[in-house]
Amino acid sequence: MSGKILFEGVAPVSQDAKAVEAWARVMNMPNTRADIIRLTEGKALVRSRDGSKYYFTTATTCTCPAGQFGKECRHKKMVRAAFTEPKPAERRSFKPDGWD
Ligand SMILES: [Zn+2]
Repeated sequence: MSGKILFEGVAPVSQDAKAVEAWARVMNMPNTRADIIRLTEGKALVRSRDGSKYYFTTATTCTCPAGQFGKECRHKKMVRAAFTEPKPAERRSFKPDGWD
């Protein structure tokens, strides 16, 4: 190991992509080059647009520059999508006809 700490026991921070990929190999994760690596429930590493690093992302927080300012970013959307079960088709109103 290079001695780089990824995420356990430390404050979530952005991670070097090489470190993440090395870690994923060690962990025998099949999706080493995925844009998103799911960690425990609700947490994931999401690759930056240029592929140089991974952001530590949850549905509501992200270590990318936009996320640091509490802005919505594509990483959070990806995490939400990854952890959200596909929604059943949009529900129609339960109101009986003419209820309105
Ligand atoms: Zn982000």
